[in-house]
Amino acid sequence: MIDVIPVASPHLDEDDITAAVRVLRSGALVQGREVAAFEDEFSDLVDGRHCIAVNSGTTALWLPLLGLGIGPGDEVIIPAFTFAATAAAVRLTGATPVFADIDPVSFCLDPTAAAEAVTSRTAAIIPVHLFGHPADLGALLTLARRHGIALIEDAAQAHAATLHARPVGTFGTAAAFSFYPTKNMQSVEGGMITTADPGLARTLRLLRNVGMETRYCHEIVGTNGRLNDVFAAIGRTQLRKLPARTAARRAHAAHLDAALAGVAGISPPTTGIGAGHVYHQYTIRVDDGRDAFAQALLEDRVGCSVHYPVPLHRSPAYRTAAHLPHTDTAAAQVLSLPVHPGLARADLDRIVTTVLRHARREQLAA
Ligand SMILES: *Cc1c(COP(=O)(O)O)cnc(C)c1O
Repeated sequence: MIDVIPVASPHLDEDDITAAVRVLRSGALVQGREVAAFEDEFSDLVDGRHCIAVNSGTTALWLPLLGLGIGPGDEVIIPAFTFAATAAAVRLTGATPVFADIDPVSFCLDPTAAAEAVTSRTAAIIPVHLFGHPADLGALLTLARRHGIALIEDAAQAHAATLHARPVGTFGTAAAFSFYPTKNMQSVEGGMITTADPGLARTLRLLRNVGMETRYCHEIVGTNGRLNDVFAAIGRTQLRKLPARTAARRAHAAHLDAALAGVAGISPPTTGIGAGHVYHQYTIRVDDGRDAFAQALLEDRVGCSVHYPVPLHRSPAYRTAAHLPHTDTAAAQVLSLPVHPGLARADLDRIVTTVLRHARREQLAA
């Protein structure tokens, strides 16, 4: 039987493994040279902003909220069409996530909907660069400035994405990246916070290290959010490969775009003006019968998955009565196809022929 083409391909190359083993043998495992070097090198990706490495993307969202003093009584505007960590970070501070609808083209937070969600309690807004497409930061920053609230970018899926040639992670008060294995680069587990504010950067370093800079001098209440040096070493080798791997994702997406354009019943992803998409996911819409379509692809051994089938305002932990029609439609229609750098030309051809065959069958049945 032919192999399944996986929808994601978490990869660790020999150079990543060698780097990890070198650090393990060195014995310098925590808050050593590798973490500092990783922060320094990552800073090149975000125009020299301060970089604070942490143990996950979730921690990278949570700590800036804490550092800005956001907590009980505050509201934070976020999309419901995202991974739950965006909402979890808000709730873990004691603040309340307020869900606003998405733009149906980019799948990212809609600035008009976000504006309508602002109240006197709004303390921050967290746009998500979903699937690797930058959110509409121009309009969202205008909104944030007008109300004097913080904007934190959830860039967990968008390493090296750009908007009008400027990298994501350089727009907000702070930004959060994730290095979970399926992300565009990984460190097994890990995250990075970026900020231009040196005072906030210092607070974040304290928050990640149980509130201390000097040992046993606890200036504030903090958590243990540290990244270890073994993982940081993997992050460094992965960072060096990010440009080539991003180019591969874009080439694969261009191939799929060309092959799937104009096919009745499905729509390839669209890129907004000035958006430098990095295709963490290649997410199409299937007008009708998405679940059966996905099942048919899986039976033909083409991996695919739904991000996200249950929007957060409908999931038990975060349920609200928010009216989010674009979010609900997206959750019913989206389907992510493989786009990762591990695909060969033959894989792409098989993805295309399988998708076209099932799209035609749907049309004939309709
Ligand atoms: C992966 C992800 C996170 C959380 O990152 P972890 O490293 O898994 O904690 C947050 N937001 C979004 C949009 C993500 O995709």
